[in-house]
Amino acid sequence: MKITEPSRDIDVVHETDVLVVGSGPGGLAAAIGAARAGVSVSLLERYGCFGGNITSVGVEGFAWYRHEKTVDTEGVGIEFEERAKAMGAATPEPQSDSHALDAEAFKWVADALVTEADIRPMLHRLCVAPIMEGNRIRGVITESKGGREAILAKRVIDATGDADVAYRAGAPTFKTPKHEMMAASVMFSMTGVNKQKFIEHIKADPQTYKDWECGEWTVETTGKEDDMFSPFLRKPFKQARKEGLIPENLDTIAGTWGAIYDTGDLTYLNLVHLAGCDGTDPDDLSRFEIEGRRQAMLAVEAMRRYNPGCENARLRNFGGTLGIRDTRKIDAVYNMTSSDVRNQARFEDSIGIFPEFIDGYGILILPTTGRYFQVPYRTLMVKGIENLLVAGRSTGGDRDSHAATRNMMCCTVTGQGAGVAAAISVQHKQGFAQLNTGLLQTELLRQGVRLQ
Ligand SMILES: Cc1cc2nc3c(=O)[nH]c(=O)nc-3n(C[C@H](O)[C@H](O)[C@H](O)COP(=O)(O)OP(=O)(O)OC[C@H]3O[C@@H](n4cnc5c(N)ncnc54)[C@H](O)[C@@H]3O)c2cc1C
Repeated sequence: MKITEPSRDIDVVHETDVLVVGSGPGGLAAAIGAARAGVSVSLLERYGCFGGNITSVGVEGFAWYRHEKTVDTEGVGIEFEERAKAMGAATPEPQSDSHALDAEAFKWVADALVTEADIRPMLHRLCVAPIMEGNRIRGVITESKGGREAILAKRVIDATGDADVAYRAGAPTFKTPKHEMMAASVMFSMTGVNKQKFIEHIKADPQTYKDWECGEWTVETTGKEDDMFSPFLRKPFKQARKEGLIPENLDTIAGTWGAIYDTGDLTYLNLVHLAGCDGTDPDDLSRFEIEGRRQAMLAVEAMRRYNPGCENARLRNFGGTLGIRDTRKIDAVYNMTSSDVRNQARFEDSIGIFPEFIDGYGILILPTTGRYFQVPYRTLMVKGIENLLVAGRSTGGDRDSHAATRNMMCCTVTGQGAGVAAAISVQHKQGFAQLNTGLLQTELLRQGVRLQ
């Protein structure tokens, strides 16, 4: 059955040069990049805080891939990490030369970055439709406690993670078949952990990336990763299955812990993996939120019983929402390939670099060697729609390339590139297809981005 919605007039509540929809690592970087390039910018977000997966899901491992020889991205992503450190919102990360962000405190860091860049904050608004004039986007329609509203913009950046705007504008997008999608996760943190005892146990029985493999879980590495330390937990859950606490067939509870604090907080517990969840289907989202919390509580109890240092610990919090890794990607003007991310691709329209870090779809390659690839401007470009770019995890590329570009630091590369491109496009009255990439690269360099 269907119903027909009556047509209605909608107030235009705001106009801006650049509108960024979604405020994760991609959108936050896009808004800052555009604002620093000198145009008016508004940042639209459905939740009450900026930061996307960092703050709303609790993904704190911002640069856990970084080792001594890593040649890393430069630009606003590094600033996120440095600013978080300076504001006491980050702590040393156990497996790398990096800091884990504090998911809660990063809300405040993101507020500061947005305010300082003079970006118009527009929280608590869900973008529900693009406003189109033929094949040109003119803005978006939002729903909120204020009702249905229109926002007009000269350029729009879709940083929703799900390519919501591009998809609804009619641009071609892809989705991984559901049974092959990267799993969803309910993230959670515990408190009341005896840090000294916990760390002593980890040191007495260190786990490696090779330990990620078990039964049907296989991990492709280059070999150099296999003996490296990983903050990985499986043994307590294996024991819990043996003792009947966790059902024998629930063998996917395992994974990494992110940071441990002197206060007894053990955070960013990435232990619950839910296959077959399509993050664009609200029925799947509802089912897996509930199932994920159930599994997380089983994991907490197993940790209490079988992981030294956790005897008196309890749940501190779940992530604010289910963590989704894999939904729509655009069919971009250039779709990145497995070969690009594995073989140090170079592009004339580079908007930044990302180290050879590939994590997803059963691949784990760490950038311990200094190898890196460039990210091209064309991977942000939506086919068939004018004035719209995509940033973050839904840019164009094949599966292996997404296992690299979905990582948060790389999302800041596509974000800052998209933001600056949108600003240059407004200032020079050039469409995205005609954009002078020399001007784009000059401004990115001025903003501290490493292009080569
Ligand atoms: C459980 C989990 C663990 C992960 N671990 C790591 C890790 O350790 N390291 C790493 O680098 N990456 C990790 N990732 C991947 C990484 O978090 C994401 O790929 C990355 O955050 C994507 O950034 P983004 O800006 O594209 O989107 P997101 O971070 O998803 O942000 C999108 C934002 O857009 C908003 N939004 C969406 N739709 C709308 C709409 N219609 N209207 C308004 N707002 C909207 C959302 O609320 C959100 O704030 C992990 C992901 C998950 C789920």
